[in-house]
Amino acid sequence: MKVSNEWARLSQEQEAIITKHHDNFPVKVGAIARDFGIIVKRSTLKPGISGEIKETNGEVVVKINRHDTEERQRFTLAHELAHFLLHRDKIGDGIVDTMLFRSSLSNALEAEANRLAADIVMPFTLIEAVDFSENIRIEEKIEYLAKLSKLSIPAMEIRLGKKGF
Ligand SMILES: [Zn+2]
Repeated sequence: MKVSNEWARLSQEQEAIITKHHDNFPVKVGAIARDFGIIVKRSTLKPGISGEIKETNGEVVVKINRHDTEERQRFTLAHELAHFLLHRDKIGDGIVDTMLFRSSLSNALEAEANRLAADIVMPFTLIEAVDFSENIRIEEKIEYLAKLSKLSIPAMEIRLGKKGF
């Protein structure tokens, strides 16, 4: 199974919590967050802000912009969950992510969060288990997988592009 370097940084316990939810698309990212003890709130955030994560006295709260599409909200939640797993020591007073996943963290750290988020909500184990007819066009494949995983078409394009389809 092909996974990111970021996935390889997870503890066995963290990996087990996530893969427990990798039985079917769409991956229940809200349930994974809850299993990690994270409180998720759908909130009105400033326009252009997709999500944020804060930790106060050990309580981790993620806010997702409820005005974004459901597909977008799902990926944002996976992205914030990835910050929790990879960058917990850097959460400080909070990480606020724009629509393009820019924050006070470096772009390199943002890219790490995006790669782990993809492994959480678009695992290749589930993508590879989908049986496509041989002559299906790549655009149809992407559209089908996006719908099945309840994620946006651009998110799925990036995912499959990296695999060299
Ligand atoms: Zn971020």
